Amino acid sequence: MDKIVSLAKRRGFIYQSSEIYGGINSCYDYGPLGVELKRNIKDLWWKSMVYERDDVEGVDASILMHPKVWEASGHVEGFTDPLIDCKICKSRFREDKIDVSKPCPVCGNKESFTDARSFNLMFKTFMGPVEDSANIVYLRPETAQGIFTNFHNVRESSRQRPPFGIAQIGKAFRNEITPGNFIFRTREFEQMEMQFFVKPGDDEKWFEYWMEARLSWYERLGLKKEKLRFHEHGPDELAHYAKAAFDIEYEFPFDWQEIEGIHNRTDFDLGRHAEYSSKDMGFFDDQTKEKYIPYVIETSIGCDRTLLTTLIDAYTEEEERVVLKFAPSVAPFKAAIFPLVKKDGMPELAHKITDELRGEYRVFYDESGSIGRRYRRQDEAGTPFCITIDNDTLKDNTVTIRHRDSMEQLRVASSQLKEYLAKQLK
Ligand code: ATP
Repeated sequence: MDKIVSLAKRRGFIYQSSEIYGGINSCYDYGPLGVELKRNIKDLWWKSMVYERDDVEGVDASILMHPKVWEASGHVEGFTDPLIDCKICKSRFREDKIDVSKPCPVCGNKESFTDARSFNLMFKTFMGPVEDSANIVYLRPETAQGIFTNFHNVRESSRQRPPFGIAQIGKAFRNEITPGNFIFRTREFEQMEMQFFVKPGDDEKWFEYWMEARLSWYERLGLKKEKLRFHEHGPDELAHYAKAAFDIEYEFPFDWQEIEGIHNRTDFDLGRHAEYSSKDMGFFDDQTKEKYIPYVIETSIGCDRTLLTTLIDAYTEEEERVVLKFAPSVAPFKAAIFPLVKKDGMPELAHKITDELRGEYRVFYDESGSIGRRYRRQDEAGTPFCITIDNDTLKDNTVTIRHRDSMEQLRVASSQLKEYLAKQLK
């Protein structure tokens, strides 16, 4: 992890937030490479969840919502973690994340924990200038509620009927007791969630469907298959809304941990919103003349946590280089273009090729340092292709393409370059 954190900072993937002031705990900023990687991960998710299907629509709901939403959803009452302190060193832990029968993991003292207290994870703030309890609003702890409250809006305007889903990417906030492991657990993060509305009775079939669909998405992301597994929630792990839940877990350097949750939320959310808003949240099927409150299968994945997973999975140390073996679809730069030397018209030709590719891909021009050093820099950025303009280019208009993982080099006519890359980056 230390190597990943230092590479992430050095190469401009991730910085500590407010670093010049000493940083703020558990908040991070994405740099030039990180922002590209994050966009690519979001695009890949959106593509597979929305563009490639005709039964999922997108929304982008606001972060601040009517406070009653969080009463209805159960978060005001139940979105709590059990907080315990070590009586000796005062370190704080989540009771469900450590073994309390063992000594304190920080100071090693035995039997030193306080009793657990429930701690609500929602951030509170005030709407308007008056800071009183009537004006309390919450920063959403999940994006899902903006989907539930818009169920009828989206259904009616897009003329969808169950089974159909609504997808959303957006920020969520949780006042975590123990943030940590870099961007694995932070207090501000982005989620990519999809709620799929189905007829009660069809829920188990769709649950299985989404489990498989989501697991196979990670292949497109390029993660190693053997590092992924399902973990089924036991009765004492299930969230207050869930009938069944599976996590997709990844083997991080620190342990197997969740990257995505797939939940059968039943009719809990729509039912509760019907109760608290006094609006009818049911669906009337005019073909069968049945009316029901749809069940919801949710897939919920953290974008930042996925980005960390992608970095860890791609990180490879070889004898003479460190290389990030990203899937080309998520790599921040798709290609880097180098003139072999800064003379003989090579920079001009390299600039011309860069400009031609620029409209289509995020590419990078580099003329400084030896060619070997330029390759190494791109290996660390995870750029799948390096294109070099050399003496032969001047003679026959071909360029060298070097593949990041195999380091193989081949020559391609510069007129064929776009086509070649399009095939490779598909
Ligand atoms: P945990 O038990 O680890 O706190 P959770 O079960 O509460 O997590 P969910 O509510 O299912 O998590 O959230 C769905 C996804 O959102 C998680 O799989 C994770 O990828 C992401 N996520 C949740 N909390 C955080 C966080 N504090 N920081 C970064 N990502 C998070």
